[in-house]
Amino acid sequence: MFGNIHELKTFCEDRKIQLIDFKVVDLAGRWHHLTIPVERFSEKTLENGIGFDGSSYGFLTVEKSDMVFIPDITSAFVDPFAEIPALTMIGDIYTLGEQRERFAGDPRYVAEKAEKYLLELGIADRNLLGPEFEFYILDHISFKNTPNHMEVFLDSHQAEWNGEKKDEKNLGYKVMHHKGYHADIPYDASFHLRNKMVRALEDNGIPVKYHHSENGGPGQVEIEVSFGPLKEMADRTMKLKYIVKNMALAHGKTVTFMPKPFFGEAGSGMHVHIQLFKDGKPIFFDDKGYSGLSDTALYAIGGVLKHSPALMAFTNPSTNSYKRLVPGYEAPVSICFATANRSSVIRIPGYATSPEAKRFEFRPSDATSNPYLAYAALMMAVIDGIQKRIDPREEGFGPYDVNMYALSEEEKKKIRELPHSLEEAANALEEDHEFLLAGGVFSEGLIGDQLRKIRKEAEQVRIVPHPLEYKMYYDL
Ligand code: GLU
Ligand code: MG
Ligand code: MG
Repeated sequence: MFGNIHELKTFCEDRKIQLIDFKVVDLAGRWHHLTIPVERFSEKTLENGIGFDGSSYGFLTVEKSDMVFIPDITSAFVDPFAEIPALTMIGDIYTLGEQRERFAGDPRYVAEKAEKYLLELGIADRNLLGPEFEFYILDHISFKNTPNHMEVFLDSHQAEWNGEKKDEKNLGYKVMHHKGYHADIPYDASFHLRNKMVRALEDNGIPVKYHHSENGGPGQVEIEVSFGPLKEMADRTMKLKYIVKNMALAHGKTVTFMPKPFFGEAGSGMHVHIQLFKDGKPIFFDDKGYSGLSDTALYAIGGVLKHSPALMAFTNPSTNSYKRLVPGYEAPVSICFATANRSSVIRIPGYATSPEAKRFEFRPSDATSNPYLAYAALMMAVIDGIQKRIDPREEGFGPYDVNMYALSEEEKKKIRELPHSLEEAANALEEDHEFLLAGGVFSEGLIGDQLRKIRKEAEQVRIVPHPLEYKMYYDL
């Protein structure tokens, strides 16, 4: 938005901006923030940065937890939710050693390094990522902090779907179970709210492709954004989640990106489309190749499929992620590729036939991921596949243009499955992370932090009695 601090200052004066808000992303992909009066913002802020405790952000590899962040003025946007006009900027993290340097584990820096590495290798000079955001818009939910609160929560929703609970507000236009896809108003209950979300996204530098209600009814929706380059798209992802959540709250609703909030209902994915260009030409297209894909595209697919178990530790880093990746809900379970097949890890959209539109879609990822790390990890797998010419056909990854859920047991055995749990994904990352370290893009320290984080969460969930255990064992 701004090239230098003078432009920024003039903008603040013109727009009567009174506060400057800084956002810094943590390991999990949550924004933290800190705010100063506009009078305190100067060249010094950009030179010296602002100190903070990095260990509270999940970055445990740094010996001393003191860090600084330096605001990136090019990321500035006017906060649509601040009551007093405020300008927001995203911060880049630096370590304080003998000399100050970029922190190797800063997710935003990792995204930056992945893009630079792609360019340095001469593979592509332009990349485009297209994430799709599925989420549920719900009424406020209150959680009781008891071991079996989940049962209360789950049962009440289940009852509502089964039509057992009387809904005072049900005027007869209720989305049926599994029938929400592209539902029109009056069934599409959040249409007006989504319109407001999408206008706010457009006004804040996030071009939107379209939005619609999704299959998981009632309440599941989707926003697809126009494609953009890796780091920029990760910034936009953070902003989109911020805008969508805050807009919902302002209207008495809540938004969840949890991959599988309800048993028996569609989960929410964050599929990512990938395209590469060189010298202005799309390098994934070849009209003679399988499904119009070039060898480069096939190698990229080979890299992604080969590393997909390890990738999951970044693209699906929550215990809940693995409850979505089960048969029967258009979520992938098998490590393979295919055209227009929603049950495979990689789908080649059948309708994208022109050279410029040729791409593939990575389907496992969900929005509990840190977008900088998830997109960067995905790109590193693409790079590895292209460099090592990993042919997915020779690796036994397909193509499988059939319904994976309907294959015979014999056929199914031939196809490798995605990790079934966060522990499995952590083990896969521990064994297979050389491809992430290439070019110094990811560091051992960051991978160690991620492993520690996800293993701790897996352990926390493992030791809590599960609601179903009450049903199965209480009376024994
Ligand atoms: N909700 C499905 C998932 O969990 C995807 C549905 C679709 O293809 O849009 O991935
Ligand atoms: Mg969808
Ligand atoms: Mg999709």
